[in-house]
Amino acid sequence: MRVIRQGVLPETTLYRATCKHCGCEMEFTRKEAEYVSSVMNESLLKVACPTCHREVWTDL
Ligand SMILES: [Zn+2]
Repeated sequence: MRVIRQGVLPETTLYRATCKHCGCEMEFTRKEAEYVSSVMNESLLKVACPTCHREVWTDL
């Protein structure tokens, strides 16, 4: 079989977020974050900022 475009496993996809509190920029995989589905039916990922330990949210 010939691969035309290499797939990316969802759990290894990298997401980026910036902490609104301290400005820390971070990169994390989906399994390092907590998956949250909001009441607005949005899919969000929650991680703890490594610098100030506050919650950082990013869209999926
Ligand atoms: Zn922070």
